[in-house]
Amino acid sequence: MELDRMDENDWKYHGEGNKSLVVSHVQHCRVLRLLKYPAEDSENPPQTAEQAFRQIQNIVDFTSNVMSCLLGEKFVHSGEVVRLPLEFVRQLSIKIQHQRPAWRCDKVMDIYSGCALCLPNLTSPTLHQPTPTPPLCIEIKPKCGFLPSPKHVSKDIKTRVCRYCMHQHYKVAKGKWKRRSLYCPLDLFSGNRQRMHFAIRHLIEEPQNNLKVFKGGQCIYSSKEGSDESPDTNSLLHHLRPYFLRGNNRVNGHMTTKAVLNDFIQVLGNALMSAAGGDGGQVTDRTGEGRSFCEASLFNRERIRHGSQGLPTNNILSRILQTQMLDSLDIEGLYPLYCQVEQHLQDFPKDRTGLQIDGPYDQNFLEKVQKCSMEDDGSVEYAAAKVHQYRIAMTAKDCSIMVTLVPSGEEEDDDEDLSSQKRLRDFRPQAFSSSVSVLDLDPKPLDSVPRQLRLDQKIVSCYLRTGGTLP
Ligand code: ATP
Ligand code: ZN
Ligand code: MG
Ligand code: MG
Repeated sequence: MELDRMDENDWKYHGEGNKSLVVSHVQHCRVLRLLKYPAEDSENPPQTAEQAFRQIQNIVDFTSNVMSCLLGEKFVHSGEVVRLPLEFVRQLSIKIQHQRPAWRCDKVMDIYSGCALCLPNLTSPTLHQPTPTPPLCIEIKPKCGFLPSPKHVSKDIKTRVCRYCMHQHYKVAKGKWKRRSLYCPLDLFSGNRQRMHFAIRHLIEEPQNNLKVFKGGQCIYSSKEGSDESPDTNSLLHHLRPYFLRGNNRVNGHMTTKAVLNDFIQVLGNALMSAAGGDGGQVTDRTGEGRSFCEASLFNRERIRHGSQGLPTNNILSRILQTQMLDSLDIEGLYPLYCQVEQHLQDFPKDRTGLQIDGPYDQNFLEKVQKCSMEDDGSVEYAAAKVHQYRIAMTAKDCSIMVTLVPSGEEEDDDEDLSSQKRLRDFRPQAFSSSVSVLDLDPKPLDSVPRQLRLDQKIVSCYLRTGGTLP
């Protein structure tokens, strides 16, 4: 990529979240991730170009020095900050504007700083040989997979119903989504194949912003916020059918829609369970603590035939879950420590740097967080380290997993048929090679802590008022 000769025609709209907008290169497997600002600030950027550069550099540092160590470097791409010609960015913003979903247009793309994060395009992997059908990528935003400990929460309901399920009631009450999703993160993170299957099926039924499917780099399945229509599952299945035709029911050359869906969920579950990498990380067995089931999940516990296997060590879900569990005090237990830090910073503003409140996110920052003693000795260092841990956990609760499924090449038909290998393959879905990455690993700002407390209170009180009565 030659940064001084950028042409907006080489880039196309790819997608966006709440904080950034992503464009992909039409030929190379690259994306540019640009910042977004509230639309009312569009004339007046909220920060200078240098601050924007610093913000993106902080994302790179946080991703590569902190999140990559906690999640496994194999899964994490930190990318690099690039400075783009302003004219290119302006033309790009005009070109893509009409492709943006209306519900995301309360924010505008940053056209002032010229800074962006350049990353590999995880939805169009580089292929080493041609494949019969384009690669499939499934993006899952799993959200928080555990219940807080009763020690720190003021409302008992928080130890029985998970945050995601409570938040669903709140979002429906506020009109953000028309229907509640029956996905529960505790099912996905359980490591039990039936519960995972159940969770993925409900992600497909009501994807909201927790599931997207890409085919050959193009998004083919996602939700529209506030829309009355459910996304078209039949169209998804239509796309998926060719990938699974050589599976179970190929004898008749016909496959029921249900079988396609089941095979897809199974392949996705296999990819998630087999994704392991790096060292460190202990197995988190939460079954004994009684904290692994959410009362709002409709999964029927009696259906579990083969006990709960739990997640394998170093598995990607297990690494994400452990990182989320750095939030050990819940927002309610953390808030007093946050106030202590805030007070200290007011009294001693210069300590902001030493405590690394806004970075730098270097080795030293990670060590502070990992060495944080369990005992509260009243020091501001302890309080700051717990706040850092909480912010890292928030990032892990907000990240996305990208599962890439590359169909294997054509099977050869000329060898001595019924070798046991081949027979086995005939009864399984078409073979894929899979790889897994984690994306969206930005550090959360300090002032997100009080916002989280207020949101937590709103969600819990809304659930206590309406919970269980909504469809
Ligand atoms: P959120 O609101 O979830 O915090 P965000 O604003 O931080 O989102 P991202 O999630 O990083 O932004 O990016 C928005 C979308 O762009 C993602 O959901 C994903 O579909 C796509 N995307 C981001 N990075 C990549 C990548 N490296 N390759 C392919 N697609 C990507
Ligand atoms: Zn739940
Ligand atoms: Mg995101
Ligand atoms: Mg994000």
